[in-house]
Amino acid sequence: MQSPYLSEEHSLLRDQVRRFIREEVEPHGETWERDGHVPREVLRKMGELGLLGLRYPAEYGGSEMDYLGTVVLAEELGRSSFGGFAITVLVHTDMASPHMANAGTDEQQAKYMPGIVSGETISAVAITEPNAGSDVASIKTRAESDGDDWVLNGQKIYITNGVLADVYFVAAKTDGSAKGSRGISMFIVDKDTPGFTVAQELDKMGWRSSDTAELLFEDCRIPHGNMLGDLNRGFYAVMQNFQNERLTLAAQAIGEAEKAIEMTVQYALDRPAFGKSLWQQPVIRNTMSMLAAKVASARAFVYETAWRATQGEDVVREVSMLKALCGDLVNEVTYACQQYHGGFGYMRGTAIERMVRDARVQAIGGGATEVMLEEVAKRMDGVFD
Ligand SMILES: Cc1cc2nc3c(=O)[nH]c(=O)nc-3n(C[C@H](O)[C@H](O)[C@H](O)COP(=O)(O)OP(=O)(O)OC[C@H]3O[C@@H](n4cnc5c(N)ncnc54)[C@H](O)[C@@H]3O)c2cc1C
Repeated sequence: MQSPYLSEEHSLLRDQVRRFIREEVEPHGETWERDGHVPREVLRKMGELGLLGLRYPAEYGGSEMDYLGTVVLAEELGRSSFGGFAITVLVHTDMASPHMANAGTDEQQAKYMPGIVSGETISAVAITEPNAGSDVASIKTRAESDGDDWVLNGQKIYITNGVLADVYFVAAKTDGSAKGSRGISMFIVDKDTPGFTVAQELDKMGWRSSDTAELLFEDCRIPHGNMLGDLNRGFYAVMQNFQNERLTLAAQAIGEAEKAIEMTVQYALDRPAFGKSLWQQPVIRNTMSMLAAKVASARAFVYETAWRATQGEDVVREVSMLKALCGDLVNEVTYACQQYHGGFGYMRGTAIERMVRDARVQAIGGGATEVMLEEVAKRMDGVFD
């Protein structure tokens, strides 16, 4: 069903991403799952096709599209059925690099944005710490000014693209005496900076083709010019960028849910049992129909919210709703779809088995469902106006 919010440009983008996935992702995705990362060459190819800079300025090679462009990209990457591949790309395009695109000085942007858009420079964002995930304001990594440098000390965990990124946008405390949210700043740390190490590559339940790392900063010196945005305003930058991140994650989850339903309908049509196909069992087709209704509704809400964001509206409540709704829905959908694949769907190497594992984190990462619902609860005034 074509959404009235989408233009011809969005449809062309969708076709282009689908073609890329068919030709460049589906034949190799299983290998990347085993290797634990997506080859750099694939990201470069996406850069050449213009897929890594959809919303960025033309002067850096971007396409200057709107939020709906991001939503189409995320939905289609979700539909690839390889969540690890999807998140590798989307962390770079819509979770890490927006820190540079939104807060970088002209000089910083001139240095980093062309590589970000072409796929030469892959980015990661490092906020979470062993004792601070949902509660961003309580991070402990600190940055102290010393001469012309900032000196970073601390630890980050669960960082997507953490092993293979070239540049890291890192949150650190710059005012230990200020209330948590008021004493955080963002910094640019290049991969080869002395004192910065990838301490460990982390093993995960799902998203296995996405590399995830623990990072260490030990007297890591970076010039004053590597502060990203304003001193002590980093918490607010993180919260602002979370809106795009969460909308993107919601769209990715919807793409995954759509794909799981399509695969399961086909499987149920083909699979004989009790002298007919599984699809002829009313409980199966009714369950799939209800799930399709839920996914179609959530998808329409994603598109509408992206459209509102493009109009400049404050959509914090809607984005929080969507992150909670879609993160849980993709789990509900993939669980039922695995059920109807029977024993086959429990086997390693089947798409649905991978999709169930990949879906689990969608209710945790980038804002756990409970945390998102608290954000909605704070904004219930006029919710149906
Ligand atoms: C695969 C993966 C990739 C990630 N990538 C990145 C990345 O690139 N960069 C980055 O900075 N971080 C990243 N993260 C971190 C992620 O955003 C956090 O894991 C997430 O925000 C939850 O934080 P936490 O793990 O510390 O859980 P906690 O904050 O300890 O919460 C644990 C659980 O408690 C519940 N909970 C928490 N707070 C509340 C509350 N207020 N009310 C009710 N219930 C609550 C939720 O169910 C939550 O899942 C990634 C995580 C994973 C698993």
